[in-house]
Amino acid sequence: MSEGPEVKIAADKISVALSNGITIENIIHNKISNEFKNKIIGSSVEYVRTFGKNIVIRFSSTVYLRNHMMMWGKWRIYDRENYENGSARPPPRSHRTFFYKQPKKELKNHDQTEKNEIIDVRKDSRARLTIVTADKVLVQFNGPIIEFSFVDPSTKPPISLLGPDGLKNDYDKDQVLSNLVAKSNRDKSLVISKALLDQQIVSGIGNKYKSEILFLNQIFPFISVTSLSQHDLEQLVLNIPKILNIGYINNGRTRLPSSSHEKITWDTTHWVFRRTGKQCWKCGSKILSEKKTTSRSTFWCPSCQFIRE
Ligand SMILES: [Zn+2]
Repeated sequence: MSEGPEVKIAADKISVALSNGITIENIIHNKISNEFKNKIIGSSVEYVRTFGKNIVIRFSSTVYLRNHMMMWGKWRIYDRENYENGSARPPPRSHRTFFYKQPKKELKNHDQTEKNEIIDVRKDSRARLTIVTADKVLVQFNGPIIEFSFVDPSTKPPISLLGPDGLKNDYDKDQVLSNLVAKSNRDKSLVISKALLDQQIVSGIGNKYKSEILFLNQIFPFISVTSLSQHDLEQLVLNIPKILNIGYINNGRTRLPSSSHEKITWDTTHWVFRRTGKQCWKCGSKILSEKKTTSRSTFWCPSCQFIRE
């Protein structure tokens, strides 16, 4: 699950590993042309930027790499020594991997289930892209979109069509508001939980942040956008960057522990997402979920999310 904040966290790590003029010694991808490969090898990275859920890497040789991780993509950065001696392990096959430490019990289960899995990352068929420097090996797993070009991807679709990015300093809340109004006027039945996933309205929000943002704005997920008041919509577009930034600053957590003694688990670090049947942190009601209305899972509190038709 790679939403704006998680993508930006990954991009930061890639940037640290590849910055300061470090030379790219090799790049491996099953569809890279010799022209791009030869240009990238021996060059360095000028910048790593995010646009919504896209990562763009610009090499000093004027080649651009665009990566979109979709639902299951992951980046891992290994010390080259560990990679070459076979001790670098690939990420687990479960899609529920988090940036923070897993509880011990889950780790134990992880190890047990992984006994039959590949433990040498070099033999993992999920590796799509490998970038090698003198000290590091960066591997991109699963992510289906990896494109090389000489044209800046941010100047052409899909990036050029993206709505404002809630993690950018120039986030334009008024533009998001007018995008929401324009799309909902064309489609009166557009519900807010679906609208927030439309990257052309606002970029960077995926299924997790959608549910968390609507909870924190007390908005029922299946209300149509046209039924929301101007005040509710204004508050919503104002709060989107705040909530995305909480996730970005806190390694994907949207709820911060209420005390230093609180155990850090998925349950304590999220308000509603993947908490079906658990008690709401604010009111104690049972969290609900469904995926029929918009074909994507939505989680909400039936008591706290009272702004409805
Ligand atoms: Zn509640």
